Amino acid sequence: MIVYAEVIVDIAASEVDRIFDYNADGFDIERGVRVTVPFGRMTVEGFVIGIKQNTDVPAEKIKSIISVLDKRRIITDEMFSLMDYMSAKMHLMKVDILRLFIPAAMRGGRVKELKRQYACLSEEYRGRDPNEFIKPSALAQHELFEYLLTEKPDGELVGELTKSMSASALRNLSARGIVTVRDVEQIRLPYADVKPENVPRVKLTAEQEHAVDSISSASGRTFVLHGVTGSGKTEVYMNCIERVLANGKTAIMLVPEISLTPQVLRSFRNRFGEKVAILHSALGQGEKFDEWRKCLSGEAKVVLGARSAVFAPLENLGIIIIDEEHDSSYISDRTPRYSTADVAGWRIKYNGADLVLGSATPSIETYYSAKSGKYELLELTGRVNKRPLPEIEIVNMCREIAAGNNSIFSSALVRELDNVVGHGNQAMLFLNRRGYASFMMCRSCGFVAKCDRCDVSLVYHREEKRLKCHYCGNMYTVPDVCPQCGFAVMKEGYIGTEKVVRLLEELYPGVGVLRMDNDSTRTKGAHAEILGKFGAKEAQILVGTQMIAKGHDFPDVTLVGILDADMSLHMADYRSVERTFQLTTQVAGRAGRASQSGKVVLQTYAPHHYVYDYVRKGDYKGFFDKEINLREVTKYPPFATIVRILVSGSDDGIAAGVLKNIYGGISELKEIYSDKFIYLAYMRAPVKKIMDEYRMQILVRLAVGSDEIIDKIFDVVERYRVPKITSYAEVNPIKLS
Ligand code: ADP
Ligand code: ZN
Repeated sequence: MIVYAEVIVDIAASEVDRIFDYNADGFDIERGVRVTVPFGRMTVEGFVIGIKQNTDVPAEKIKSIISVLDKRRIITDEMFSLMDYMSAKMHLMKVDILRLFIPAAMRGGRVKELKRQYACLSEEYRGRDPNEFIKPSALAQHELFEYLLTEKPDGELVGELTKSMSASALRNLSARGIVTVRDVEQIRLPYADVKPENVPRVKLTAEQEHAVDSISSASGRTFVLHGVTGSGKTEVYMNCIERVLANGKTAIMLVPEISLTPQVLRSFRNRFGEKVAILHSALGQGEKFDEWRKCLSGEAKVVLGARSAVFAPLENLGIIIIDEEHDSSYISDRTPRYSTADVAGWRIKYNGADLVLGSATPSIETYYSAKSGKYELLELTGRVNKRPLPEIEIVNMCREIAAGNNSIFSSALVRELDNVVGHGNQAMLFLNRRGYASFMMCRSCGFVAKCDRCDVSLVYHREEKRLKCHYCGNMYTVPDVCPQCGFAVMKEGYIGTEKVVRLLEELYPGVGVLRMDNDSTRTKGAHAEILGKFGAKEAQILVGTQMIAKGHDFPDVTLVGILDADMSLHMADYRSVERTFQLTTQVAGRAGRASQSGKVVLQTYAPHHYVYDYVRKGDYKGFFDKEINLREVTKYPPFATIVRILVSGSDDGIAAGVLKNIYGGISELKEIYSDKFIYLAYMRAPVKKIMDEYRMQILVRLAVGSDEIIDKIFDVVERYRVPKITSYAEVNPIKLS
């Protein structure tokens, strides 16, 4: 009987996202391996998603597999089921989903196992007198024989061996079979310098203990672990993982991309040693490949990683933990679009495992689910060792200006900075704007330099002496005179991180200042290097964007300055107040984590906005009550679902035509399901053009329980797909720009 393989080819195009049958006769093949197959006139890689004995494809048409790329399956049954779920629920192409499951490095054969040559004495020569087969004059060969026999009975890497022994003696003995040289696989270990140390166990607080017990005694449940910053959530996670491992199961722990610091890594290595695999974008391709295979082989029992580690091929999962669950990096806002929590929710059901969503500031939707009984709520109300939360001073920047202070530093902040510098402590200053000044404006006519290809103003980068577009990366020279009116003074607009550093250097000469943002952390390891320097107190002040808001634990930081808290407040987005609360609370939590108490100076132009009152009091619950009320009255999530359809293309007219067609299709749905539609409108997107593509959108708001309508909206978008125009639908998108 002939064997056929069902193959999904590794080409991302909707017209080929189906299953093709190939003749697999004569191949040793199973479901879950990759193959190469002929496809049209090309040879491409493909994933075998099934094996069968018959096919509907006529015998004269069917082609044969060319080769099998994997000895063993690399996609498990669980992942195939997950693929079906994601393609149905998240409307994704199967090939895009499969690509998520497998590190990019593996596809196309770009990275392979790292092989090294290894030499050892051949078994049949051991215990024999070397004079029988090595001439007395061949001293180097005798020496090598003796060395391998007595010092390295298990053999040694050839590279090491030839440092002290003669390479020609090795060649000679191996040619005669006296020494065996074979290839062994070398595992690349990321962060090899982070070695496990023996650290004493802390005694859990009563609240921590309660949390660990509750989580460990359930299965198939979702927990929300709400604990203020510094309440010891990581310790809870590690204890839960320990219990899971003791039951012979495995664990995944997810952290936001930028908070996977050497500190977190060290804690996990200390506790779980070799059982931990790291999956993170900062890893080299080879490292990623090896860590991933450690998961597949069962060698790794714990995965620590960023968003995509939710797809780690661990079997027998006992727990998935999502730390800082409110973080927007858990939503993929590029194709393939998915929500990490949804994927994790599916996996824990499949495995009968638990899901823990941890945060100091849970998202409104998550906390609502906990309050309404869908999830279980666990709270850590105090910081460990009863360290107080830092005192937060809200500074009215309008009053500063009225008092003649035009600087970005309020007098209160300068007073506190003087204090920090004088006492040899450290400060973190937070500003969510990289670059030197957000824009260059003509003082005479108000002209603002904009990107030619995108509808956004350019950002001045002083180090590079260029104007840069943060959307497309285009660089422009800085004009000396205004291109519009010829006036000679271009003024800087908002101040960015780069400029803050320069101002600080003027204010505090000789005091070390570090900067951490997207620009200063572009190279591999730069992130860890900056944090390392700050941790070693090589600098007293660290200036950064939201990158510094997460997870760091520096004992000598006694001051946190939030330079412009309102940055996220005035975005046209129903989540802007929530984001402001989360971000400012997170940043404030960096102060006073050890023995010294901390102080936060929060600068705002809207000091009476209710959000700052809750931030100052550290009152998450009060904030939640206020916010959930607003959401209910105004009908926003979790009391509604938002669907945004974005259409873009270089031809404005064609794109608008597609938009109108989709709008027409959705309007028909609105006729049928009128009671479920809260809002429907089309318009230009807030950013009207990116990279020469015009952007427009349809916004839909639906009552909860409209899954059927959402599926149909996705169908409408598919129906009006045309070449060269990008169109997609997003459910509760994280960005509405
Ligand atoms: P969170 O993640 O909630 O912000 P962490 O888990 O980072 O807090 O804990 C803050 C600090 O407290 C860490 O240095 C941690 O080692 C320490 N810690 C945690 N639990 C305890 C405990 N039960 N006793 C003493 N120290 C603890
Ligand atoms: Zn641009």
